[in-house]
Amino acid sequence: MTDLAIAPGPKVEEKLFQNRYLVDAGKPHIRVRPHEVPSASLLAMTTLCPAGCYALAESGQVEVAADGCLECGTCRIITKATGEVEWNYPRGGFGVLYKFG
Ligand code: SF4
Repeated sequence: MTDLAIAPGPKVEEKLFQNRYLVDAGKPHIRVRPHEVPSASLLAMTTLCPAGCYALAESGQVEVAADGCLECGTCRIITKATGEVEWNYPRGGFGVLYKFG
């Protein structure tokens, strides 16, 4: 039996903290379309988004704050069938700047 000693690496949160984000003020690249009640898919984004961009407002509607978005596309795919999310890449020079992977 070998005795493997694996040094613990940095946590995901620590890696994400290395990234920087350039906000395109007033021009968010992701918008939630107006809705009365969010679909299950849109509601799921409040827990699925790795950057925590989605939140459930007191009004019962889902909101997005695209600052810090990792451009992973998860919300675009999950809500594709419902069309509740308008998704574009940020304009050139804006958005996430990956520093660690
Ligand atoms: S693209 Fe990814 S990180 Fe950005 S808002 Fe959607 S799920 Fe969150």
